Amino acid sequence: MDQNYTEIILKSGKDQSLKRFHPWVFSGAIKQIKGNVDEGDIVVVKSNQGEFLGIGHYQIGSIAVRIFSFDNVPIDERFWIQKLQFAYELRQKMLLPVADDTNVYRLVHGEGDGLPGLIIDFYNGTAVFQMHSIGMYHIREQLASCLKQVMGDALKAVYNKSSKTIPFKSAVEAVDGFIFGESLPGIVSEYGNLFKVDWEEGQKTGFFIDQRENRKLIQQYAQGRDVLNMFCYTGGFSFYAMRGGANLVHSVDSSEKAIALTNENVALNFSGDERHKAFAADVFDFMKDIKDRYDLIVLDPPAFAKHQRSLPQALRGYKRINTRAFEQIRSGGILFTFSCSQVVSKDKFREAVFSAAAIAHRKVRIIHQLTQPVDHPVNIYHPEGEYLKGLVLYVE
Ligand code: SAH
Repeated sequence: MDQNYTEIILKSGKDQSLKRFHPWVFSGAIKQIKGNVDEGDIVVVKSNQGEFLGIGHYQIGSIAVRIFSFDNVPIDERFWIQKLQFAYELRQKMLLPVADDTNVYRLVHGEGDGLPGLIIDFYNGTAVFQMHSIGMYHIREQLASCLKQVMGDALKAVYNKSSKTIPFKSAVEAVDGFIFGESLPGIVSEYGNLFKVDWEEGQKTGFFIDQRENRKLIQQYAQGRDVLNMFCYTGGFSFYAMRGGANLVHSVDSSEKAIALTNENVALNFSGDERHKAFAADVFDFMKDIKDRYDLIVLDPPAFAKHQRSLPQALRGYKRINTRAFEQIRSGGILFTFSCSQVVSKDKFREAVFSAAAIAHRKVRIIHQLTQPVDHPVNIYHPEGEYLKGLVLYVE
């Protein structure tokens, strides 16, 4: 297939990872760019021998090309529709049959769905686009129209929220807003728990969908327990704990807005229930002195490490909060502890938690090892996509 895209030729030997379907081309692997290329352009990548390797979006930066097709096919409307259709069908087949009271899920998970640079979260009729590449940002309207063709009436609106995620050095001044349709921040259902989601003002696309199954798990351990939900955002883990029969639930987040939403969500799900209290506070301060007040603690911090260079500092952060939890959790307590930092591997996270347990001198058993759910699939050739790690620990 001869397409009029600029060709990028790789240095000899630098084609191996692409041949194994890893979707990134690093700038150092490029030998020659044949012609002009602008940020966001579609390019064809070839080996030093002129062999076709893939088609992707070009971007200035260490990841120079993000490959979305390893086949030499036309990149037209049909192509994008088919890609979105695959992603949608996966959720229809794998997620919704087990979570039919759920109308919030991740519809496209970047590399995990063969669409690097594109995140789409679905909130009960509204799709929220979060682009991480200029190429995907450029075609946002086309993607919205293709998604409409795939989903039909199930899709009422598309909101683009990319101004904070596309590379800040690019010349594109991204503006957030509806591509089509409009809706007020809505109420979604996750396993029957209701959440008010504000995709315009909220963090990320409005909700941390990736913790759905882990939130659900807490329900089976909450009976009769005094629960502390740290970094609660809009209260997710708290409501499952209440549903599971917790004795009391305290939710803590440093964001006043998040705490206001948590309280609104309590009113939606458990109006008048006095077991719940929310605190706008810094977790590190709050945990200085919680004594033995709790026997189920959740630690779900934001990514402590955004880059490899902040890894040591991040590991110290995980060690510190987990030590505080181990030192104070009641005997027979359960700790749900997470890391969503991509650069922190499963082993490194476990080591940090292990050190924390040893410092606190508690006897600890791992009862679950958790990760991200089915709507956040990991491309087996792109292990970097596996970012969420969790441990459920029984503390003697
Ligand atoms: N568990 C949540 C998601 C947590 S996201 C859920 O299930 O939806 C991480 C949260 O940590 C954010 O809401 C952020 O406001 C909060 N946060 C970040 N730093 C904090 C700190 N030092 N103390 C308290 N909260 C913090």
